[in-house]
Amino acid sequence: SDHQLTYPASPAHMDWSSYYPAFVLDTSTEQIVPENLARVGTGGAVKKLKQDVEVADIGCGFGGLTVALAPLMPNTLILGLEIRTQVTEYVQERIRALRAQHPGQYENAACLRANTMKFLPNFFKKHQLSKVFLCFPDPHFKARKHKARIVSTTLNSEYAYVVRPGGIIYTITDVEDVHNWMVQHFNAHPSFERVGEEEQEADECVKTMRVETEEGKKVERNKGQKFVALFGRLEDPAWE
Ligand code: SAM
Repeated sequence: SDHQLTYPASPAHMDWSSYYPAFVLDTSTEQIVPENLARVGTGGAVKKLKQDVEVADIGCGFGGLTVALAPLMPNTLILGLEIRTQVTEYVQERIRALRAQHPGQYENAACLRANTMKFLPNFFKKHQLSKVFLCFPDPHFKARKHKARIVSTTLNSEYAYVVRPGGIIYTITDVEDVHNWMVQHFNAHPSFERVGEEEQEADECVKTMRVETEEGKKVERNKGQKFVALFGRLEDPAWE
Protein backbone atom coordinates (compact mmCIF):
# COMPACT_ATOMS: atom_id res chain seq x y z
CA SER A 1 0.00 0.00 0.00
CA ASP A 2 1.13 3.56 -0.61
CA HIS A 3 -0.59 5.48 2.18
CA GLN A 4 2.76 6.50 3.68
CA LEU A 5 4.09 7.91 0.44
CA THR A 6 4.53 11.65 0.24
CA TYR A 7 4.38 13.63 -2.94
CA PRO A 8 5.58 17.09 -3.84
CA ALA A 9 2.68 19.52 -4.24
CA SER A 10 4.03 20.35 -7.70
CA PRO A 11 7.20 19.60 -9.69
CA ALA A 12 8.65 22.89 -8.40
CA HIS A 13 8.38 21.54 -4.85
CA MET A 14 10.38 18.40 -5.57
CA ASP A 15 13.90 18.48 -4.17
CA TRP A 16 16.03 16.37 -6.49
CA SER A 17 19.35 17.37 -4.94
CA SER A 18 19.84 14.20 -2.90
CA TYR A 19 19.02 12.07 -5.95
CA TYR A 20 21.44 13.77 -8.35
CA PRO A 21 24.00 15.56 -6.13
CA ALA A 22 26.47 15.96 -9.00
CA PHE A 23 23.88 17.96 -10.94
CA VAL A 24 22.98 20.49 -8.25
CA LEU A 25 23.30 24.09 -9.36
CA ASP A 26 25.12 26.07 -6.71
CA THR A 27 23.33 26.52 -3.39
CA SER A 28 22.80 30.25 -3.76
CA THR A 29 19.97 29.45 -6.15
CA GLU A 30 17.79 27.76 -3.52
CA GLN A 31 14.24 28.54 -4.34
CA ILE A 32 11.87 29.20 -1.50
CA VAL A 33 8.51 27.57 -1.92
CA PRO A 34 5.60 28.04 0.48
CA GLU A 35 6.35 26.03 3.63
CA ASN A 36 2.98 24.37 3.88
CA LEU A 37 3.27 23.04 0.35
CA ALA A 38 6.79 21.67 0.58
CA ARG A 39 6.10 18.15 1.69
CA VAL A 40 9.21 16.68 0.15
CA GLY A 41 12.70 17.95 0.89
CA THR A 42 13.69 20.41 3.56
CA GLY A 43 11.73 23.22 5.18
CA GLY A 44 10.63 24.96 2.01
CA ALA A 45 13.98 25.48 0.28
CA VAL A 46 14.47 23.45 -2.87
CA LYS A 47 17.93 23.15 -4.38
CA LYS A 48 17.71 23.46 -8.12
CA LEU A 49 19.37 21.09 -10.54
CA LYS A 50 21.20 22.17 -13.68
CA GLN A 51 18.69 20.21 -15.72
CA ASP A 52 15.47 18.24 -15.37
CA VAL A 53 14.90 14.49 -15.30
CA GLU A 54 14.08 13.44 -18.85
CA VAL A 55 13.88 9.66 -18.78
CA ALA A 56 11.56 7.63 -16.54
CA ASP A 57 11.72 3.86 -16.01
CA ILE A 58 8.28 3.16 -14.57
CA GLY A 59 8.09 0.16 -12.24
CA CYS A 60 11.86 -0.19 -12.54
CA GLY A 61 12.07 -3.24 -10.27
CA PHE A 62 15.69 -4.04 -9.46
CA GLY A 63 16.92 -1.27 -11.72
CA GLY A 64 18.76 -3.18 -14.46
CA LEU A 65 17.49 -0.87 -17.20
CA THR A 66 17.88 2.33 -15.17
CA VAL A 67 21.57 1.65 -14.53
CA ALA A 68 22.22 0.31 -18.05
CA LEU A 69 20.85 3.51 -19.60
CA ALA A 70 23.06 5.77 -17.47
CA PRO A 71 26.33 5.31 -19.41
CA LEU A 72 24.42 5.29 -22.73
CA MET A 73 23.13 8.81 -22.11
CA PRO A 74 25.59 10.33 -19.64
CA ASN A 75 24.21 13.86 -19.98
CA THR A 76 20.59 12.92 -19.36
CA LEU A 77 18.98 12.42 -15.96
CA ILE A 78 17.32 9.02 -15.68
CA LEU A 79 14.87 8.08 -12.92
CA GLY A 80 13.63 4.64 -11.96
CA LEU A 81 10.28 4.74 -10.16
CA GLU A 82 9.30 1.79 -7.99
CA ILE A 83 6.49 1.24 -5.50
CA ARG A 84 8.13 -1.40 -3.30
CA THR A 85 10.19 0.13 -0.49
CA GLN A 86 12.84 -2.57 -0.22
CA VAL A 87 13.26 -2.84 -3.97
CA THR A 88 13.67 0.96 -4.18
CA GLU A 89 16.29 0.85 -1.43
CA TYR A 90 18.09 -1.96 -3.23
CA VAL A 91 18.29 0.12 -6.44
CA GLN A 92 19.44 3.21 -4.52
CA GLU A 93 22.20 1.12 -2.91
CA ARG A 94 23.11 -0.36 -6.29
CA ILE A 95 23.52 3.15 -7.72
CA ARG A 96 25.57 4.30 -4.70
CA ALA A 97 27.93 1.35 -5.22
CA LEU A 98 28.25 1.99 -8.97
CA ARG A 99 29.02 5.66 -8.33
CA ALA A 100 31.73 4.66 -5.83
CA GLN A 101 33.24 2.07 -8.19
CA HIS A 102 33.15 4.32 -11.27
CA PRO A 103 33.84 7.89 -10.18
CA GLY A 104 32.05 10.42 -12.38
CA GLN A 105 29.66 7.81 -13.77
CA TYR A 106 26.11 6.82 -12.79
CA GLU A 107 25.58 10.29 -11.28
CA ASN A 108 22.73 10.68 -13.77
CA ALA A 109 20.77 7.67 -12.50
CA ALA A 110 18.51 7.58 -9.45
CA CYS A 111 15.59 5.67 -8.01
CA LEU A 112 12.53 7.11 -6.30
CA ARG A 113 9.76 5.35 -4.42
CA ALA A 114 6.41 6.28 -5.88
CA ASN A 115 3.12 4.89 -7.00
CA THR A 116 3.23 6.00 -10.61
CA MET A 117 -0.47 5.39 -11.03
CA LYS A 118 -0.98 8.44 -8.87
CA PHE A 119 0.55 11.90 -8.92
CA LEU A 120 2.89 11.47 -11.90
CA PRO A 121 2.23 15.16 -12.77
CA ASN A 122 3.32 16.11 -9.22
CA PHE A 123 6.84 15.00 -10.10
CA PHE A 124 7.10 15.98 -13.76
CA LYS A 125 5.95 19.14 -15.45
CA LYS A 126 4.19 19.25 -18.78
CA HIS A 127 6.37 17.87 -21.60
CA GLN A 128 9.34 17.31 -19.27
CA LEU A 129 10.11 13.73 -20.33
CA SER A 130 11.62 12.57 -23.61
CA LYS A 131 11.46 8.82 -22.90
CA VAL A 132 9.26 6.68 -20.67
CA PHE A 133 9.88 2.95 -20.25
CA LEU A 134 7.10 0.56 -19.29
CA CYS A 135 9.01 -2.71 -19.05
CA PHE A 136 7.32 -5.96 -18.15
CA PRO A 137 4.46 -4.32 -16.24
CA ASP A 138 2.56 -6.55 -13.83
CA PRO A 139 0.04 -8.31 -16.09
CA HIS A 140 -3.01 -8.35 -13.79
CA PHE A 141 -4.57 -11.18 -15.78
CA LYS A 142 -8.08 -11.19 -14.33
CA ALA A 143 -10.57 -8.87 -15.99
CA ARG A 144 -11.60 -7.31 -12.67
CA LYS A 145 -7.91 -6.46 -12.09
CA HIS A 146 -7.42 -4.74 -15.45
CA LYS A 147 -7.95 -1.36 -13.82
CA ALA A 148 -4.66 -1.92 -11.99
CA ARG A 149 -2.73 -2.04 -15.26
CA ILE A 150 -0.30 0.84 -15.76
CA VAL A 151 -1.63 1.45 -19.24
CA SER A 152 -5.19 2.71 -19.47
CA THR A 153 -7.13 5.51 -21.11
CA THR A 154 -6.74 7.71 -18.03
CA LEU A 155 -3.06 6.97 -17.41
CA ASN A 156 -2.24 7.45 -21.09
CA SER A 157 -3.47 11.02 -20.78
CA GLU A 158 -1.02 11.49 -17.89
CA TYR A 159 1.79 10.05 -20.01
CA ALA A 160 0.74 12.40 -22.82
CA TYR A 161 0.98 15.32 -20.40
CA VAL A 162 4.46 14.54 -19.05
CA VAL A 163 6.01 13.39 -22.36
CA ARG A 164 7.00 16.04 -24.90
CA PRO A 165 5.94 15.93 -28.54
CA GLY A 166 8.64 13.88 -30.29
CA GLY A 167 9.21 11.82 -27.13
CA ILE A 168 8.76 8.06 -27.02
CA ILE A 169 7.01 5.54 -24.76
CA TYR A 170 8.78 2.18 -24.81
CA THR A 171 6.84 -0.96 -23.89
CA ILE A 172 7.93 -4.57 -23.58
CA THR A 173 6.19 -7.61 -22.09
CA ASP A 174 6.23 -11.38 -22.33
CA VAL A 175 2.44 -11.55 -22.02
CA GLU A 176 0.83 -11.23 -25.44
CA ASP A 177 -2.51 -10.16 -24.02
CA VAL A 178 -0.82 -7.29 -22.13
CA HIS A 179 1.04 -6.31 -25.31
CA ASN A 180 -2.23 -6.18 -27.25
CA TRP A 181 -3.82 -4.21 -24.43
CA MET A 182 -1.03 -1.61 -24.46
CA VAL A 183 -1.08 -1.32 -28.27
CA GLN A 184 -4.85 -0.95 -28.29
CA HIS A 185 -4.87 1.75 -25.59
CA PHE A 186 -2.01 3.81 -27.02
CA ASN A 187 -3.38 3.54 -30.56
CA ALA A 188 -6.73 4.79 -29.30
CA HIS A 189 -5.12 7.86 -27.75
CA PRO A 190 -4.91 10.92 -30.03
CA SER A 191 -1.49 11.95 -28.64
CA PHE A 192 0.30 8.74 -29.60
CA GLU A 193 1.25 6.91 -32.76
CA ARG A 194 3.00 3.56 -32.95
CA VAL A 195 6.60 3.72 -34.15
CA GLY A 196 7.36 1.60 -37.22
CA GLU A 197 9.34 -1.61 -36.92
CA GLU A 198 12.42 -0.32 -38.75
CA GLU A 199 12.77 2.71 -36.51
CA GLN A 200 12.01 0.55 -33.47
CA GLU A 201 14.73 -1.97 -34.23
CA ALA A 202 17.27 0.78 -34.96
CA ASP A 203 16.72 2.30 -31.51
CA GLU A 204 19.58 1.53 -29.12
CA CYS A 205 17.22 1.70 -26.15
CA VAL A 206 15.15 -1.18 -27.53
CA LYS A 207 18.16 -3.48 -27.47
CA THR A 208 18.94 -2.33 -23.95
CA MET A 209 15.45 -2.93 -22.57
CA ARG A 210 15.33 -6.38 -24.16
CA VAL A 211 18.51 -7.56 -22.43
CA GLU A 212 19.15 -5.37 -19.38
CA THR A 213 15.83 -5.53 -17.52
CA GLU A 214 15.77 -8.29 -14.89
CA GLU A 215 12.49 -9.56 -16.35
CA GLY A 216 13.96 -9.54 -19.84
CA LYS A 217 16.81 -11.74 -18.58
CA LYS A 218 14.38 -14.12 -16.92
CA VAL A 219 12.32 -14.45 -20.11
CA GLU A 220 15.56 -15.07 -22.03
CA ARG A 221 16.52 -17.92 -19.67
CA ASN A 222 13.06 -19.45 -20.07
CA LYS A 223 13.23 -18.99 -23.84
CA GLY A 224 10.02 -16.97 -23.72
CA GLN A 225 8.80 -14.38 -26.20
CA LYS A 226 9.21 -10.63 -25.80
CA PHE A 227 6.69 -8.28 -27.36
CA VAL A 228 7.94 -4.75 -28.01
CA ALA A 229 5.96 -1.65 -29.01
CA LEU A 230 7.02 2.00 -29.13
CA PHE A 231 4.70 4.98 -29.29
CA GLY A 232 5.70 8.44 -30.44
CA ARG A 233 4.19 11.45 -28.69
CA LEU A 234 2.53 13.55 -31.42
CA GLU A 235 2.37 17.32 -31.53
CA ASP A 236 -0.68 18.78 -29.83
CA PRO A 237 -3.25 20.02 -32.32
CA ALA A 238 -3.14 23.76 -32.88
CA TRP A 239 -6.39 25.33 -31.70
CA GLU A 240 -7.14 28.37 -33.77
N1 SAM B 1 10.73 -3.19 -15.14
C1 SAM B 1 11.38 -4.22 -14.33
C2 SAM B 1 11.94 -5.29 -15.23
O1 SAM B 1 11.58 -5.30 -16.39
O2 SAM B 1 12.73 -6.10 -14.76
C3 SAM B 1 10.43 -4.81 -13.27
C4 SAM B 1 9.21 -5.50 -13.80
S1 SAM B 1 8.18 -6.14 -12.49
C5 SAM B 1 7.29 -7.40 -13.23
C6 SAM B 1 6.98 -4.83 -12.27
C7 SAM B 1 7.45 -3.80 -11.25
O3 SAM B 1 6.55 -2.71 -11.22
C8 SAM B 1 7.52 -4.34 -9.84
O4 SAM B 1 8.80 -4.08 -9.31
C9 SAM B 1 6.43 -3.56 -9.10
O5 SAM B 1 6.71 -3.37 -7.73
C10 SAM B 1 6.39 -2.28 -9.88
N2 SAM B 1 5.11 -1.55 -9.81
C11 SAM B 1 3.87 -2.08 -9.91
N3 SAM B 1 2.93 -1.12 -9.80
C12 SAM B 1 3.60 0.05 -9.62
C13 SAM B 1 3.19 1.40 -9.43
N4 SAM B 1 1.89 1.73 -9.41
N5 SAM B 1 4.13 2.35 -9.28
C14 SAM B 1 5.45 2.02 -9.30
N6 SAM B 1 5.90 0.77 -9.48
C15 SAM B 1 4.98 -0.22 -9.63
